[in-house]
Amino acid sequence: MDFPTLRTDILILGGGGAGLFAALHAEHTDPRLAITVVAKGLVGQSGCTRMVQGGFNAVLDPADSLEAHFLDTLKGGAWLNDQELAWVLVSEAPQRIAELERIGCFFDRRPDGRIAQKPFAGQSFDRTVHKGDLTGIEVMTRLKERLLGTSVTLLDEHRALDLLPARDGGCGGALLLNIRTGQPLVALARVTIVATGGGARLYRISAPSLEKAGDGMAMCWRAGVVLQDMEMYQFHPTGIIAGPSVLTGAVLEEGLRGAGARLYNARGERFMARYDPQRMERSTRDIVARASYLEIQEGRGTPEGAVLLDASHLGAEFVERTFPGMAQRCREAGYDLARGPVPVSPTAHFHMGGARIDPWCHTNIPGLLVAGEDAGGVHGANRLGGNGIAESTVFGGRAGDCAAQEAGTRPEPSVSPSAVQEAWEQALAPFSCNGEESVFALRKALQDLMWEKAGVVRNAQGLQDALAGLNALEERLHRASVPPVREFNMAWQVWLDLRSMLTVSRLLVQSALLRTESRGSHYRTDFPQTNDQEWLRNILVQRTEGNASRFWTEPVRFTRLRPPGIGSEHI
Ligand SMILES: Cc1cc2nc3c(=O)[nH]c(=O)nc-3n(C[C@H](O)[C@H](O)[C@H](O)COP(=O)(O)OP(=O)(O)OC[C@H]3O[C@@H](n4cnc5c(N)ncnc54)[C@H](O)[C@@H]3O)c2cc1C
Repeated sequence: MDFPTLRTDILILGGGGAGLFAALHAEHTDPRLAITVVAKGLVGQSGCTRMVQGGFNAVLDPADSLEAHFLDTLKGGAWLNDQELAWVLVSEAPQRIAELERIGCFFDRRPDGRIAQKPFAGQSFDRTVHKGDLTGIEVMTRLKERLLGTSVTLLDEHRALDLLPARDGGCGGALLLNIRTGQPLVALARVTIVATGGGARLYRISAPSLEKAGDGMAMCWRAGVVLQDMEMYQFHPTGIIAGPSVLTGAVLEEGLRGAGARLYNARGERFMARYDPQRMERSTRDIVARASYLEIQEGRGTPEGAVLLDASHLGAEFVERTFPGMAQRCREAGYDLARGPVPVSPTAHFHMGGARIDPWCHTNIPGLLVAGEDAGGVHGANRLGGNGIAESTVFGGRAGDCAAQEAGTRPEPSVSPSAVQEAWEQALAPFSCNGEESVFALRKALQDLMWEKAGVVRNAQGLQDALAGLNALEERLHRASVPPVREFNMAWQVWLDLRSMLTVSRLLVQSALLRTESRGSHYRTDFPQTNDQEWLRNILVQRTEGNASRFWTEPVRFTRLRPPGIGSEHI
């Protein structure tokens, strides 16, 4: 088959915060470059950056410091972070706020005109910049408006299927699928940036945007990229429980708890007193999520499997004015956040694991950069609220700078037709199955399996069950068929999603089995203690022959600070 082909200097896969910041910076560095942004959804309107409610961590106040933000990030990450990446994050986040203001973002202000900053869990200073509780919409709307005035090509509803190896080694671009027409498009690029936003919806109760299936991490794995700490998946403590509605899992952000909202179990006990009496509801996400999960598991939850978040004592007028987006979301689910308790559960939220990158977003494959939530290392074992959008904009911008500088040094891209043909045939596989399996039922089975066996609380038996379950689901996926139409075929899209979700789930479960301790968001009942003697290590994985993986561990590199009790603090 002859494949339609697009040639571009820089190919950016993903149109969220990281993808658009990469485009902005690359275009600014060299406006003559051909830059293409590809998004499975609509560029700027898909992905999770648009869903950011709480805000953006940046040191702006002279009473705060980069060192304090850095230390909070390492403590939050249970010292598993790549310290060089974490330092880049905190030291460049203030510049990104200034850039966002220059392109027209209005953040909330104090009466004296300075940018307002609010408290967020696990932070030693109130440093979260926000626009009410709709920060992501402000950021993404302005970013997209700014890009519409440039020569950057925006391809909506195009799905990256696979990275394509360049003939001279390295990455030569990607095979895309136009979701509207069902036709392939070969995108040849000197430099490719993967920014598809990690955070796959792997779990029954889940917060990320609906289209996120872990495609970027799965494509990276198939291409031979080294991934790290895949077991580290964060559960946000407070997702709405609203029956079969798509609102189930939607986040009520922690600014609410920062402002004083309280958590109760079905017996009316303020249960955080048992888990973190000092910080109570302002404890870190991992602790609050685990506490809520255990309350529900141990029978102290509501009949629908929830605990209760109550902000009513803060005053209805204050809640409506300060958290309009969340109040509206609760109303849509049938609850009144300003006047009564709302049933909530931990909800799958953010993948800390991902591609191993250096501070300029390079992977181990020449010509392939990764930025945003698809990358690992920045957040260690647990991300602080407000550090996610900082990551996507800081590293998205860096990836754009780096791609623009390196595009001129990379050869004219060329890929082998057989690699393209093979990737396309694999994507078409479900059209030649005549099985009885429904892809929608398989997706539900995968999400239930991951929730029950590899979720908030784990152990060896559960993780082994999860692996066996994933094997069985993989078998069943080969027997799933999809209707024989290419245009807007949602069942086909779900089949492709499942291919990625199975890959990411397997890497997550295998890594979780290896980590025989509890650390940050990874909690094992059979190894409940954090074991600094043996496990201040990153778990790395790379594809080998066939679909197998090689796992190994490396000590965390303490390039700037050491954890307490591990040698002298400063390096
Ligand atoms: C509900 C919610 C609230 C959050 N609130 C906060 C907060 O208050 N503060 C904070 O710091 N962080 C928050 N986060 C985390 C934050 O949203 C992420 O860290 C960050 O936005 C990730 O940015 P990204 O650019 O990597 O990915 P995203 O913004 O998710 O963008 C991913 C893009 O990739 C596209 N894509 C996916 N697959 C493909 C494919 N195969 N081919 C092409 N394109 C593809 C998507 O369509 C989308 O355009 C929140 C997350 C959620 C889910």
